Amino acid sequence: MGIKLNIEPITLQGVSPDRPMIMAGPCSAESEEQVLTTARQLSQQGIKIYRAGIWKPRTRPNAFEGVGSVGLPWLKKVKEQLGMYTATEVANVKHVYEALKYGVDILWIGARTTANPFAVQEIADTLKGMDIPVLVKNPVNPDIELWIGALERLNDAGLRKLGAIHRGFSTYDKSLYRNDPHWQIPIELRRRVPNLPIIVDPSHIGGKRELIYDISQRAMDLNFDGLIIESHCNPEIAWSDAKQQVTPDALKCILDRLILRHSDVDKQQSSTLEELRAKIDKFDDEILNIFEQRMNIADQIGRFKKENSITILQTNRWDAILKKRTNMGLLKGLSEEFVLKIFASIHQESINHQTKVMNDAIDGATS
Ligand code: PEP
Ligand code: MN
Repeated sequence: MGIKLNIEPITLQGVSPDRPMIMAGPCSAESEEQVLTTARQLSQQGIKIYRAGIWKPRTRPNAFEGVGSVGLPWLKKVKEQLGMYTATEVANVKHVYEALKYGVDILWIGARTTANPFAVQEIADTLKGMDIPVLVKNPVNPDIELWIGALERLNDAGLRKLGAIHRGFSTYDKSLYRNDPHWQIPIELRRRVPNLPIIVDPSHIGGKRELIYDISQRAMDLNFDGLIIESHCNPEIAWSDAKQQVTPDALKCILDRLILRHSDVDKQQSSTLEELRAKIDKFDDEILNIFEQRMNIADQIGRFKKENSITILQTNRWDAILKKRTNMGLLKGLSEEFVLKIFASIHQESINHQTKVMNDAIDGATS
């Protein structure tokens, strides 16, 4: 199900069109000194696009909510003194007017705003007919339709230089990441809107500077188009997101270590790949056959429970299955997270089968 967005590439003079497009800068603009020092250091490392949050949507009140419009002249100086392009987040009409007034080159819509179609529509209406690049962060919740919906609203308003930023999705569970990457969602976005550039935000996905490299490498291996990384001249004392920011020097080290693999394959490589893919397809067939057989047994158990008036869910049995399978998975080199997810899905499907069998039996009896 391809979606047609009328998109033009974001080409910026003096910025190489080669992958990856890099945007870097502090989470928040804090002072003129901090904005310009960070920008100068980034510029020395070859960074051309400078990000800085002027208005910060915070989950809880009383956290630092951004310096506001007073920070915009600082971004203007970054442009004038260093020739960098500037980018900031806009969440309402006022932000858009102010950012445009100070010549901000690229706007982005933050994760909390993308989740709100009224706010996105308001921004789209304000930008109607303009030529400015707009990047749309995924909504905080893992909902690809909302993400695409925001892009469509902007596109309907005539904006063509669109891109997406993958910043992960919030979860209630504790996990290694601040925001779960759910890579299958940006991959699905790529499948649905093939010509849309997708930039990955390892800072907000990881939430810790130590994770930035691995997430960036993963983003490159998955063939995404760019990276937006939070960088601060003195990350330890940053007013927001201190743990996930890196110095411009550290950023350079991260970027230099990235291995860029190409996505086009020659004939020889292609036949090797075909062979390997055929093997994968065969395993996928087998997995489905085994699931089918397993669910047939679940149906039989459902009938047995019905006949003997036993409840569907028996927690002890489920705990035992999980423990046994995660241990076995670890021995086979499968992560606990993966095994837990797979078995949670299998269990749910089993319950669905058993419920159906039991209710069919009831329907049968009453009809
Ligand atoms: C940010 O980029 O600093 C930011 C607030 O990001 P997000 O909207 O992804 O939380
Ligand atoms: Mn941030």
